[in-house]
Amino acid sequence: MALSKKAAGEIARRNLIDPALVEKAAAAEIDGRAGADDVLRVPFRIGVTLNRSMAHASRFFRELRDRGVFYAGRCPACGHVLFPPVRPVCLRCIKKGELWEYEPLEIGPEVGGTVAAVSRLVRGTSKDLGKGDRYPCLIRADGADNAHWQLVHPVEGRTIEVGARVKSVLVDQADRTGEVGDFSYRLA
Ligand SMILES: [Zn+2]
Repeated sequence: MALSKKAAGEIARRNLIDPALVEKAAAAEIDGRAGADDVLRVPFRIGVTLNRSMAHASRFFRELRDRGVFYAGRCPACGHVLFPPVRPVCLRCIKKGELWEYEPLEIGPEVGGTVAAVSRLVRGTSKDLGKGDRYPCLIRADGADNAHWQLVHPVEGRTIEVGARVKSVLVDQADRTGEVGDFSYRLA
């Protein structure tokens, strides 16, 4: 034995990593399979805190977090409606070489929409383990000229399919963080 399990456990403890993950990553070092000239890899963890910028969708996420109200962006020139309003200037007008900033358009506490495409996430990330399959879908919100990706919650006995009607679901106000997870959809 080269790397002791005790030392592997210490690496895990020091780096806040699941000991099983360290033992798996360092298996060849623990059971002595690693050759003298093989690259020696020792797991470690970098703790960093980053800010996710909501950029042009800042108002959208702040209004949703604080008041539970959805907003879209509406072009004052051509009426193009973008939901969520994640771009500053009208996507339609810019193709004609014109720059028009979207104006905020209050939608209300609920958004309806239609499923335009369905995907199924079987494993997802480690934090999703055990939560079952998830269904990120392309949703065309009512009145919007675009579609956006968001999770649709499955319902026992019903299929999430293209053309299905959905309604928005909001996380409780006290749990809303101003991020994309503050809302999702369910079959209507
Ligand atoms: Zn426009």
